[in-house]
Amino acid sequence: MYRGVGQPLEVCEFPVGEPGEGQALLSLEASGICGTDLHIINGRLGIPGPLILGHEFLGRVESLGSSGARDGLGRRLKKGDSVIACVAIPCGACVSCLRGETASCMNFGVTYLKDPAGAPHFFGGYGEYLYSPVKNLVRLPAGVSIKAAAAFPCAGPTIVRACAYAGGLESGELVVVQGTGPVGLFAIAWAAAAGCTVVAIGSGASPGRLKLARRLGAGRVLDYRAMPPDERVKTVKALAAKLGRGDGADAVIEASGAPAAVPEGLDLLRTRGRYLIPGQYSASGAVSIRPELITFRALRLIGSGQYTLADVGTYLDFLKKNPAVQRAFAACVTHTFTVDQAGTALAAVEAGAAGKAIFVRK
Ligand SMILES: [Zn+2]
Ligand SMILES: [Zn+2]
Repeated sequence: MYRGVGQPLEVCEFPVGEPGEGQALLSLEASGICGTDLHIINGRLGIPGPLILGHEFLGRVESLGSSGARDGLGRRLKKGDSVIACVAIPCGACVSCLRGETASCMNFGVTYLKDPAGAPHFFGGYGEYLYSPVKNLVRLPAGVSIKAAAAFPCAGPTIVRACAYAGGLESGELVVVQGTGPVGLFAIAWAAAAGCTVVAIGSGASPGRLKLARRLGAGRVLDYRAMPPDERVKTVKALAAKLGRGDGADAVIEASGAPAAVPEGLDLLRTRGRYLIPGQYSASGAVSIRPELITFRALRLIGSGQYTLADVGTYLDFLKKNPAVQRAFAACVTHTFTVDQAGTALAAVEAGAAGKAIFVRK
């Protein structure tokens, strides 16, 4: 349990009972630790405790609070199914929701920001159990491994949605991915599967991640510590010219979370290029940009920070269709912890030691 900024996580025990109407009781199979959790703990999101952190819970259905239950995509659920529990609750009534853009609801609620002192206690992902509204569940298709699905259950759908907002990625496009954390790694795999040529910009301080970037389909990986920004822009522009794509990348995907990546992203794009910005997940400061680039080069900027249940379904179908990607994703899960090791786990993630870290049952 997270109590507040600067306080260590506490291990708590609560009774496990039957789920209420419309709810499901899930037991832990894999629960991801996400950069967002660190932002909460460090006070950067202004979310107060007490709460159980974690929004990337994959679990086994132990019991259902109503008969004939179906998941959020309308598929039948039964005891023993593996599911992803999504935490977002779009309001269904705002202008975005009424347009079907529930990923950009203006009045989002979430399932897990509740005091665990209240029953049924298990609201967040860092737990051995979770109670979730049945309509927030997405069942794993047969043939999708838990470990592979646990690699990017939030980063994956986030990229799926950002790319959908951007009109999709086309085969033959040159795509630059800035950052090789979970969002960046999934973006590389997604763009490569779409038939794009992918250049990743990552840090040589995490050689494991650069290796994963290559394995997931980045044809070139540029180490931002070893190569100055103007050199990176030159490299991408030269590649674009060689591929016949014009004066820069067709699309750049910002997945580093570093504000300084944004002006560089604008420089990397071709005329009419698309800049997808799903990665700026905390207020990390301001940068100056050259707005005339947007005007004269007719750039398109696409923000996106959430996803829909259907995007989670797309993520899982992508895994089902691509066994090689599944194996690569499973390899991205480099660290496993039990829930009572939460403090150690978060420290490992904060230190950047882990590709993807998950909690598993004891
Ligand atoms: Zn997440
Ligand atoms: Zn809404």
